[in-house]
Amino acid sequence: MPLADYILDGELGRGAFSIVYRVIDRKSKKEFAMKVIDRKSSSKAALQTEIEIMKKVSHPNIVTMHEYFESTEKIYLVVELVTGGQLFDKIMEKKFFSEKEARVIVKQLLESLQYLHSVGIVHRDLKPENLLLKNEKDLTIALSDFGLSKILADDVFMKTTCGTPSYVAPEVLNNINNAPTAYTEAVDMWSVGVIAYILMCGFPPFYSDDIRKLFESIMAASYDFPEKYWKNISKEAKHFVNCFLTVDPAKRYTAKQALEHPWLTLAPQSAPLPHWNDQIKKYVVIRREESKKFGAELVFNTKLAQPTTQS
Ligand code: ADP
Ligand code: MG
Repeated sequence: MPLADYILDGELGRGAFSIVYRVIDRKSKKEFAMKVIDRKSSSKAALQTEIEIMKKVSHPNIVTMHEYFESTEKIYLVVELVTGGQLFDKIMEKKFFSEKEARVIVKQLLESLQYLHSVGIVHRDLKPENLLLKNEKDLTIALSDFGLSKILADDVFMKTTCGTPSYVAPEVLNNINNAPTAYTEAVDMWSVGVIAYILMCGFPPFYSDDIRKLFESIMAASYDFPEKYWKNISKEAKHFVNCFLTVDPAKRYTAKQALEHPWLTLAPQSAPLPHWNDQIKKYVVIRREESKKFGAELVFNTKLAQPTTQS
């Protein structure tokens, strides 16, 4: 039994579908993170094939997959252990943040996505909780949970992504009652736009307490750059965000195109962003509440999540 090969060494965190433990391989004494998923969350038959694809992924900014096994009740994913915690927890401690720092993060994210997309993997669940940091030293990103959407049953996955849709592309919400398998890599690029937007001003482009309104604003890509918070931010940065928050997935920037955008290639603005710190602190608190609220216990209500298209 492979589980016996590991010493469980405390809990690292919990998500909607899983509990993550720190573990030590008894033989090699190496440390890993072990993600334990309830089998009920997964109805997929071809797990093994998916895992083989995931195991081949190798990139400095992506959490690598080490081993996989299952029992009658659980699925165990043993992955690279990263020690820097969640990106947003780290940056909210910063007194100073500028476009230059935002760019360092976004660039790594784009490079890891360019890689994933080139090997045919769509992440599908890009959100701050999956942007981890390799270590405590610097802002080296470790992208987590790519391919997880392939392991989880579609309805289970949709339940949580649509329960907290702040990062979800319009075509995903549009397709809520259809087989959610047809998405292209463009869904990831939408999330990059949302993440880049938040990194610069500290609050999200789409936000509403009313989930219906939230769905509507996402599906219409209706967002703006409030003057108070965005007046000191470069026009290249705003243009960069616009390139992702485009409803038509065919018109949305690809990772490759984005890496050539002037915001990433020209000299960055390094003036501290005003209001940034207060905003991001507020947002991290809101986001924690949101994630808790829409945890595994949520009974997905399709009617509620179904946006009203008229009016
Ligand atoms: P979510 O991504 O929704 O937060 P997860 O089950 O993916 O849920 O992870 C729960 C938490 O466990 C993460 O937010 C993170 O803090 C921690 N975690 C996940 N993977 C790792 C890892 N490879 N190394 C260290 N910590 C991890
Ligand atoms: Mg995760």
